[in-house]
Amino acid sequence: MRALVWFRRDLRVDDNAALASAAEFATDGIVAVYFVTPQQWIEHDEAPCKIKFWLDHLESLSAKLAELNIPLLIEQCDSFLDVPKRILKLAQNHDCSDLFFNHEYEANEQQRDQHVIDQFELNDLNTHCFHDRVVVPPETIKTKEGKFYSVFTPYRKVWDRVAEEYLKTYPRPKQQKPLDIKPGDIPDKVKGFDLEECRSDLWPAGEDEAQARLEKFKSRIGGYNDYRDIPSLNGTSLLSPYLAVGAISIRQCLNAAIELNEGRIAGAEGPTTWISELTWRDFYVQVMVACPRVSKHQPFKLKTNQLQWRNDPQEFQAWCDGQTGYPIVDAGMRQLNRTGWMHNRLRMVTAMFLTKNLLIDWRMGEKYFMQKLIDGDLASNNGGWQWSASTGTDAVPYFRIFNPFSQSKRFDPEGDFIRKMCPELKKVPKKSLHDVKKMASCRPEFAPDYPEYIVDYSHGRERALQAFKALK
Ligand code: FAD
Repeated sequence: MRALVWFRRDLRVDDNAALASAAEFATDGIVAVYFVTPQQWIEHDEAPCKIKFWLDHLESLSAKLAELNIPLLIEQCDSFLDVPKRILKLAQNHDCSDLFFNHEYEANEQQRDQHVIDQFELNDLNTHCFHDRVVVPPETIKTKEGKFYSVFTPYRKVWDRVAEEYLKTYPRPKQQKPLDIKPGDIPDKVKGFDLEECRSDLWPAGEDEAQARLEKFKSRIGGYNDYRDIPSLNGTSLLSPYLAVGAISIRQCLNAAIELNEGRIAGAEGPTTWISELTWRDFYVQVMVACPRVSKHQPFKLKTNQLQWRNDPQEFQAWCDGQTGYPIVDAGMRQLNRTGWMHNRLRMVTAMFLTKNLLIDWRMGEKYFMQKLIDGDLASNNGGWQWSASTGTDAVPYFRIFNPFSQSKRFDPEGDFIRKMCPELKKVPKKSLHDVKKMASCRPEFAPDYPEYIVDYSHGRERALQAFKALK
């Protein structure tokens, strides 16, 4: 019996449910395949840096699989629609009776997978699908009324109780029977994506790199609670790109934190808070599965569809470019544009600035983030945006609008991060970086190249409050 393993966003050989199960099943070798689908990726707003990251990971995955005698084939087709027939043909050509893959939870992906399952069934071939991207599978945790949880805290309480059942990791497969099949070449170009400028130096690929990052983070996890909100410090794990591509499993992360928490899910502050962040990831996946409209450009709170968002292309562009005249907002956006990643605190600050202070539709910001982020993930990105815009599940109340100056005073008091990202502010005294009036008066002398603020903070705030109140 020969197995076909279909890799998607699970590019690793360790603790991979589908791969490990294929290895248990196969007696006559394993073939692996990955589909490059450029048109679909454009439609999904995938960022060029993420595509480059995927390709780099495929190189390292292919080498690791080759050591196990598993050839990784690369198939190219424009869209998901072409996948079912192509993967069926591949299975038939290589005498694979069974297909193994891990669940993807987004609507288009689920539809594609259903078509694949149907095609295999029609042709008397078998499919096996596993929950691997999350700790607790979506639709497992339900309220007493059988509904999904739309509020995080009660969800987390149940999650804490049940997560232990899902901690078992899967072994790396043993060497398989060698097959006379050559691995495919990993492309270095993908139609429609400019991969030249991508910063592979910041984000080296491979599951070994992901494990090394987890190891390093374990020595910092004790301080996570204190430092995770300070963008100038390395206070967080920087694992999100690796989790998004599946170079490391969520179980490996959770087990590491539990180990440092004396075997418990709740315990010392640092690991417990980090586990809580991992839980948000599961939470947003279950929201997307239970309420698929959120991934189709619809708000969770439907009445916010009536909100009168402003259409101001110039202000939107200034936000994208990090040229709003609000130092902490600009520093965040420039970090995103330069590195493909943004600190969580700044994701909240910049998202709230766009949706509240500028009153520009969250969907424009969500799309821009997706087109730039190396860790872009539909469920988490959508969840974060709808949280910030007060349109989502367990969202911030609309009247709690962050003041960007108070945020920078609190989380970048010396202005280290701001000055690193916005060098034209180097000479501005730190107090002025956190004070709208002082900033305005010292700008002409100390930062003539830095833009004047594009919106008056109080005016923008009041405008947002009125727009949200009008919904009632
Ligand atoms: P750590 O603090 O070390 O956290 C560990 C892991 O927990 C992260 O890697 C991530 O997988 C998960 N996590 C942490 N915070 C959250 C959260 N709030 N929601 C969901 N999962 C979380 N995260 C993404 O992975 N992809 C996105 O596209 C994304 N878009 C976002 C957009 C907005 C507007 C906001 C407010 C948040 C977004 N996040 C997103 C969540 C969060 O900002 C990142 O996961 C985090 O900054 C990644 O850095 P880290 O790996 O160092 O995180």
